[in-house]
Amino acid sequence: MSRVPGPPSVAVIGGSGFYELLSSGQEIKVDTPFGPPSDPITVGEVAGRQVAFLPRHGRDHRFPPHKIPYRANIWALRSLGVRQVLAPSAVGSLTVELQPGTLIIPDQIVDRTGREQTFYDADRAVHVAFADPYCPQGRAAAIAAARASGWDVEDSGTLVVIGGPRFSTRAESRWYAAQGWTLVGMTGHPEAVLARELALCYTSLSLVTDTDAGVTEGEGVTQEEVFRAFGENVARLRELVLSIVATLPAERGCPCPHALDGIPLPFELP
Ligand SMILES: [Zn+2]
Repeated sequence: MSRVPGPPSVAVIGGSGFYELLSSGQEIKVDTPFGPPSDPITVGEVAGRQVAFLPRHGRDHRFPPHKIPYRANIWALRSLGVRQVLAPSAVGSLTVELQPGTLIIPDQIVDRTGREQTFYDADRAVHVAFADPYCPQGRAAAIAAARASGWDVEDSGTLVVIGGPRFSTRAESRWYAAQGWTLVGMTGHPEAVLARELALCYTSLSLVTDTDAGVTEGEGVTQEEVFRAFGENVARLRELVLSIVATLPAERGCPCPHALDGIPLPFELP
């Protein structure tokens, strides 16, 4: 591992179309017990803090949502010193009120992926609390920064995560909406729970790029539509992420650092 000015305490995991955050930085190759992360991690300074950036799909978008090395990504970030994670991603909206370009800071998640979702799969049972999957301090900072920079931001919502890579059928989409869920994405799980399992703060920044299939009577969502909408907003989103990093308290006053208190772990945290 190469030397950096100081360990990064905060990380940004970029989603589709979000392949760069820092104009300058040092690339670090990390390995983990789960293999290498999606890409080398770039570490640079933002507002006096060392920040790590990792493009979730790889910078050439070589990992589809179901093949992303989620465990390696989260493990690698923690091993570098990261304790707070901001996670922008493209999502579909399940309600006509939330149009493309809207930013949602979700407060709940529903897993429909069936993916591998734990670091604790050997030796002994480890059950972490996940009733509130996101960091309250990170969410508050994200909402405040988004409002301050003029975003149309929703301060809560339920993100249903599907396995992908296909989009939803109309029936699935109508069913999700009927449950009262707000958004559909493909990468928010298991990222959030893996972060919790390593006592990290995790905040989702969900950018609406389309209205999911069942919501409108159109042709249904396409990849082109999603990438275009994200591309139109990515420069703005990058600025927002930088301002969240600048205002996010470095001192963690949230429950996240205590997620594993009193739980015997089968391994040392990285
Ligand atoms: Zn937290």
